[in-house]
Amino acid sequence: MTTQQKPDYDAIVIGAGFAGLAAIHYLREAGLSVRVLDKASDIGGTWTWNRYPGAMTDSESYYYCLTFSKELLQEWSWTLRYPDWKETHSYFHFVADKCDMWPNIQLNTEIVSADYQEDSGHWKLTARDGETFSCKYFISGMGMISEPVIPKIKGADTFKGPLFHSARWPEGLEYEGKRIGIIGAGATTVQMLPITSKTAKSVTVFQRTPNYVLPAMQKPMTPEWEKEIKENYDEIVDKCRNHIFGMAFDTAEGRKAVETSPEERERIFEEKWTGSFRWVFETFEDLLSDPEANRMASEFIIEKMKARVDDPELADLLTPSFDDYPLFAKRPPLDHGYLEAYNRDNVHLVDIKDREPIVEITETGVRTTENDYEFDIIVLATGFKAYTGALEAFPIRGVSGQTLSEKWREQSSSIMGVCVADFPNMFIVTGPQAPFANLPTSIEQNVIWISDCIRKMEREGYDLMKPREDAEQEWTRQTAEIHAQTLMAEGDKVNSWMMGANREDKPPRVLIYFGGANVYYDAMDESAKQGYPELEFDKLAS
Ligand code: NAP
Repeated sequence: MTTQQKPDYDAIVIGAGFAGLAAIHYLREAGLSVRVLDKASDIGGTWTWNRYPGAMTDSESYYYCLTFSKELLQEWSWTLRYPDWKETHSYFHFVADKCDMWPNIQLNTEIVSADYQEDSGHWKLTARDGETFSCKYFISGMGMISEPVIPKIKGADTFKGPLFHSARWPEGLEYEGKRIGIIGAGATTVQMLPITSKTAKSVTVFQRTPNYVLPAMQKPMTPEWEKEIKENYDEIVDKCRNHIFGMAFDTAEGRKAVETSPEERERIFEEKWTGSFRWVFETFEDLLSDPEANRMASEFIIEKMKARVDDPELADLLTPSFDDYPLFAKRPPLDHGYLEAYNRDNVHLVDIKDREPIVEITETGVRTTENDYEFDIIVLATGFKAYTGALEAFPIRGVSGQTLSEKWREQSSSIMGVCVADFPNMFIVTGPQAPFANLPTSIEQNVIWISDCIRKMEREGYDLMKPREDAEQEWTRQTAEIHAQTLMAEGDKVNSWMMGANREDKPPRVLIYFGGANVYYDAMDESAKQGYPELEFDKLAS
């Protein structure tokens, strides 16, 4: 360490998910003392909180993982194309055990404030029980979809049974034979419904906006498939690094839906209908950029969706239309029998947008403008305050004592989603204005940039890293400019979390860099190569 006053740790990371584990690896390698704190009682981040029935990854297992060790990649075996939360959780334990990370991890520790200390350039973190920690480098690994949205629904505190957000599903909750009400119809509900409806007495979904639902097409990991993956891991890791969404997908370079004959287009759409988000990226390159191509893709998906629902009226309610919003203006869910679940007698859909909005939650259930629905359990599958939620949930105070939340009242600006002006020596893993991508890929790229920057500081004897205001303005400008050119910008019409349009407390904003994750990773590499021109490095006056 370069400063005279020694902090408790060189680096503290909040969050023991992918970011926390990656940070332990890369920062230890850089010779730093690292402490990872998490309020949860186990490691795993999102996979510790999201334990609702049916929770599983939407990225395919073999590239939804950390890649810093060839040994880890070779020794771990996934059993499924999309592992459930239990298997993903076991993977976290495998990594922590294998890499001897437990001594760096402190669980059950909820940080309630983080304050920059002007005199030392250190950060002081305070936990709920009063314990304090100091560090030179403060890193948020709190996740970009972790802070729940709890809607203000009248009477929510009067319900007599369990009522909880989907990311707080009570451990061991017995729902067999019970009547469940689910408010929300996003990716979480799409996973939860097929499982819960098998044994619950009834499941009623309150839907405001229907989604473009893509089939996951789950399958087991066969020994042959695993062998092929493990023989080609370098190529798979490389593919993720160079893909616009950080996924190990092939591209459809040079093939445009609008320039393809209807018969050939249909053939390609059908041929590639093999599950996962691949379909969006491997069919045609213009689906997310050209409205006409997007319309073609949307219509294909809608037809596929409708074919799986027996009741045509219900099928209409469950499907969006391109005229409402284009594909990917909301993040499409992947499903494992979601639509078929509506063919069961015990599953009901309530259209709360046009037909019967929710009026209140009562002691016994949900009252809409038309009906009273009785439930034993109510689940709020109402989403998350994406990108900024966790960073605003407690005060993080920078140089002037201003909190991140105050700074981000109108616009959530940053430098590449990793640094924020006026918050020296602080880094964020996948913060606002980073891309939305396969998260382990983005997380690892961010942590490499952060740890290399810290290495430079330690090597060259710097005490302070100060993100430059002009660099922040430039990144924010670029991100907004790209955002405005994409179809995702239409997400504000349909409450998309991708632009914070699902929040009642803040206006929608540009939260995601949509220039391509690969372009963003290139920009990060270039920044490191140029010696981090977006940052000023300084020494404390002795
Ligand atoms: P979401 O996609 O934001 O969906 C929230 C749902 O709640 C929407 O249907 C929304 O309706 C509804 N809602 C919100 N506030 C409401 C209110 N006041 N009254 C009635 N309905 C309300 O949230 P999510 O399903 O939890 O998924 C969020 C993201 O988490 C996903 O897009 C995905 O990125 C991630 N996720 C990932 C996985 C995975 O990879 N395995 C699984 C689950 C989630 P509107 O649409 O009308 O706003």
